[in-house]
Amino acid sequence: MSTNKQQKVALVTGGSRGIGREIALKLAKEGYYLIVNYFSSQNSAEQLLEEMGEGEIIQADVSSQEDQKKLLAFVEKNFKKLDLLVNNAGITRDNLLIRMSSKEWQQVLETNLLSVINLTESFLPLLKKEKNSKIINISSTVGVHGNPGQANYALAKAGLIAFSKLKAKELISEIQVNCIAPGLVQTKMTEKFDIDKLSETKIFRAIQASEIADLVAYLSKADSLTGQVIEIDRGLSLLSGLEGL
Ligand code: NAP
Repeated sequence: MSTNKQQKVALVTGGSRGIGREIALKLAKEGYYLIVNYFSSQNSAEQLLEEMGEGEIIQADVSSQEDQKKLLAFVEKNFKKLDLLVNNAGITRDNLLIRMSSKEWQQVLETNLLSVINLTESFLPLLKKEKNSKIINISSTVGVHGNPGQANYALAKAGLIAFSKLKAKELISEIQVNCIAPGLVQTKMTEKFDIDKLSETKIFRAIQASEIADLVAYLSKADSLTGQVIEIDRGLSLLSGLEGL
């Protein structure tokens, strides 16, 4: 752990692959010292660490209260502060509402929403030690517009938007809290979609994870922006009937 006192420290949850990985790489390039949380993809997390050159990787299941405490203890002990918390970890357990099991509800709500509430609340004292520290929550355009077959995911992501707005109000003079709501980003999460076929429609183009990372980097510096939900979906949600992609 070779961070100097001036170096800003960022924690990215679910950073082993996909969007979180790109966010970690971008923030490392911007000069942050990165703490990257992963759940099951240890090899990918180790590769990422190598690519970043410095930083920390830490295994934790964000949906477990015990692991949430482990994450907090790690940051408290080694850094005693946090400048940026990116709540990115997320899962899907899609099903028609009528068939959605209580396990599918529970897993998605615990991983995508309750974990963010618990982690945010527990990291506040460390975040408050720094002036203008930031919280960035990765929601989804599905949380804004809904999507059949994703009731659990849509509710969790909508809840994340409500939570971000209320925290932005509560922390108005101390911490900027914003939400990013991406459309369809090409990652493992969306591999079930035939993105090449969708792209043939000409109005559709998948978003790259690096575009979300660029937005995170921007928000990490935007002291005057708080309580906002930024949809980044290449306008897809504006096209009637295409929200359900
Ligand atoms: P992904 O490729 O499936 O990656 C998910 C990441 O979350 C992985 O790093 C995974 O870690 C981690 N994760 C999953 N469960 C976890 C847990 N219990 N504890 C800690 N980490 C956990 O997904 P993605 O597309 O990058 O999605 C990242 C975020 O963007 C999610 O919140 C997602 O809802 C949101 N989003 C994605 C899209 C999209 O189109 N892809 C659109 C809108 C919003 P391991 O690999 O180590 O298990």
